Amino acid sequence: MSIDIRHLIGGHPAESFSGETFETRDPHDGSLLGTVARGGPADAERAIESARSAFDEGPWPRMSPKERHKILHAVADAVEDNLEELAMLETRDSGKIITQSRHADIPRTAHNLRFFADYAAMAGNEAYPDGDLLSYTLYPPAGVVTAISPWNAPLMLASWKLAPALAFGNTAILKPAPQTPLTAARFGELALEAGLPEGVLNIVHGFGGDEVAGPLTTDPRVDRITFTGSTATGVRILQAAAPNLTPVSAELGGKSANIVFDDADLDVAVPESIRGIFAGNGQMCFAGSRLLVQRGILPEFLTRFTEAAEKLVVGDPKDPATELGPLIERRHLDKVHGYVELAQREGGTVLTGGAPLGGAGFHYPPTVISGLGNDSRTAREEIFGPVETVIPFDTEDEALRLANANPYGLSGLLFTTSLDRAHRMAARWKAGTVWVNCYLVRDLRLPFGGEGSSGLGREGGRFSREFFTEPRAVTLRL
Ligand code: NAD
Repeated sequence: MSIDIRHLIGGHPAESFSGETFETRDPHDGSLLGTVARGGPADAERAIESARSAFDEGPWPRMSPKERHKILHAVADAVEDNLEELAMLETRDSGKIITQSRHADIPRTAHNLRFFADYAAMAGNEAYPDGDLLSYTLYPPAGVVTAISPWNAPLMLASWKLAPALAFGNTAILKPAPQTPLTAARFGELALEAGLPEGVLNIVHGFGGDEVAGPLTTDPRVDRITFTGSTATGVRILQAAAPNLTPVSAELGGKSANIVFDDADLDVAVPESIRGIFAGNGQMCFAGSRLLVQRGILPEFLTRFTEAAEKLVVGDPKDPATELGPLIERRHLDKVHGYVELAQREGGTVLTGGAPLGGAGFHYPPTVISGLGNDSRTAREEIFGPVETVIPFDTEDEALRLANANPYGLSGLLFTTSLDRAHRMAARWKAGTVWVNCYLVRDLRLPFGGEGSSGLGREGGRFSREFFTEPRAVTLRL
């Protein structure tokens, strides 16, 4: 299979002005999946013009939330009707295991659309009668939204941005990661077929700052930038957006702590901690990549955890029996392995895994490292691979101190049967999300985002409404 992927501008497929293309390949076997239009500044310009005129003159921002609700639900229906095709495209493009694409990423894409369509149609509004005064808030759409997404959950994260942006009446330009353009391109076609008006969603493909992404972050006709990706890129985007004061929502990297107390139910803590680091082939922003275990249970926990890690089936992500697929690309495999070599230089012991598996794909085995301190580089920096660093602790205070002693603050995992402790720790944890005795469960009404180097701003429910609208106070004397 090789698909010809073009930009989507003003409701029509478009080649790049330059005529240049790049390839997207299957990280499992290296086969060519698609030839993709390589966008440059002129393509960004066209996409911004299209989104701008759809916002300034088109029907979308002028529809009632109920009318948009109907169309966004039709788009969600189209995603569900084409679930199998989208799941296989996602798995081939990203290496994500097919069970995750089928049962998590693609269904969540439809859910994101339905949730924000419903939310925008039903969200309450405040009004304050006060004598002969009546004050209330309006939430008009912000305008043109740039959405820039990463490769690790391509369509799910793109829809996490597009669904609220569109539901609140904005028009958008999506720039998917160059490693994984396939599902975004197919989604664009499905959205148009389902009735999304032309120009409301534009998609441009290509690379970072000097190419197509640059103008999408510097152009004053863009009203909001929503970005998910690495902290280094997030900083560049904030700098690019600053001269225009364009608001940026930035969901960035992580190095989350996963804390297991000696009162934890290990039948829950072991499998959830395995998911906590190895789900998504280890390439998850909120992976619990620092595993803090209370000293008394360390030997038993480590034996069970390492055995479970070794049992994970590594292989072809298209096979439903596979539990760990390949990493995204050669450069990333080299980075992940570089960190494992660094861990050994820092004095760590590799308990299992520790070397690329070879072959055509970028497979790396589940790897567990012990013997390192919380301030080693291995334990401080985001590796974004299937590599767990295990660190013992003695007391609750020490566990919290270690968890919070990191520049990132995206999430935290906690395993304990003490309800008091769970509440105490959640209140003091430097983390945007805390999961207690579970992992990856998301209620879309709650804020999502990170502290410190993990980001700026929150999205989800009313937090998305505040970001994607321009709240306006109105006061009438009656
Ligand atoms: P990345 O920062 O390299 O790229 C992300 C996107 O930004 C891509 O589309 C890329 O083309 C684009 N980009 C690159 N340079 C740019 C520039 N100067 N201006 C505008 N756009 C630019 O990140 P990645 O490697 O694709 O993704 C992995 C990272 O994403 C990890 O750090 C991970 O933790 C993070 N992530 C965070 C979350 C979250 O919700 N906090 C979720 C998933 C991934």
